[in-house]
Amino acid sequence: MAALSDALKEAEYFLLDMDGTLYVGDEPIGDMAATLAALRNKGKKLVYLTNNSSRSVEDYRAKLVRIGLWGEGDEVYTSGVATAETVCERFAGKRVYLVGTESLQKEFLAHGIALTEEDPDIVVLAYDTGLNYDKLCKLTYFLRKGAYYVATHPDLNCPAPKASVPDVGSFIALVEASTGRRPDEIVGKPFPGMGDRLVRRLCGRDGDDVRKKFIMTGDRMNTDIRFGNACGFRTLLVLSGETTRENMKNYPDRPDFILGSFNEVLQSL
Ligand SMILES: [Mg+2]
Repeated sequence: MAALSDALKEAEYFLLDMDGTLYVGDEPIGDMAATLAALRNKGKKLVYLTNNSSRSVEDYRAKLVRIGLWGEGDEVYTSGVATAETVCERFAGKRVYLVGTESLQKEFLAHGIALTEEDPDIVVLAYDTGLNYDKLCKLTYFLRKGAYYVATHPDLNCPAPKASVPDVGSFIALVEASTGRRPDEIVGKPFPGMGDRLVRRLCGRDGDDVRKKFIMTGDRMNTDIRFGNACGFRTLLVLSGETTRENMKNYPDRPDFILGSFNEVLQSL
């Protein structure tokens, strides 16, 4: 494997997980603002990636601005937006029943997707923090009738201040217990859909050489590193969040590089 300094020279796109990688809660890790600025100064494109489909691109941008990490040219990409793009591209004109927040409904409508409460071709299950029994009954009814089933991401839990709270992966388990159906397709990390879309959009073409220009950075082995490896990107594990040198051995994937925190890239830049 090439040295980190060579990989950084070759890299044009930094795909960055946020919580545990750039900040913890509302607190940036070290002088992350300076690290991100140094990368921008070298002409690198920063894309903040999140599986959380309950919040909008603007919500994340506002948070990054508030904690001083946002910079010109940066981009936020959520599994919700990626799902809207996927539906648009592959299922144009199909009717969609969306279980999602109001902000995600707006995102789908902005993409020109026809949302319906009756007889959909597709159901999309997102991180709906307003999930209720009526929505669950409709969702399972449409699945029993054979609608194509897309979920935005597979995370079982979402980190929260007091204790983790149920995320889409837990909703998927509930729906499976009731209907026996698993999603036909899951868009978010660790599945490669978001990466494939970014490669095509940012580079205009695909290939192994193009994919080496992407570095996926994150603190979770089973989502961030699995995703980066599945996409054929370079992978950088940071030990500022969930993973330690000990517990990383419990996972089949291996990152290309490991740093204590993302700020250490400056030493190889
Ligand atoms: Mg993380």
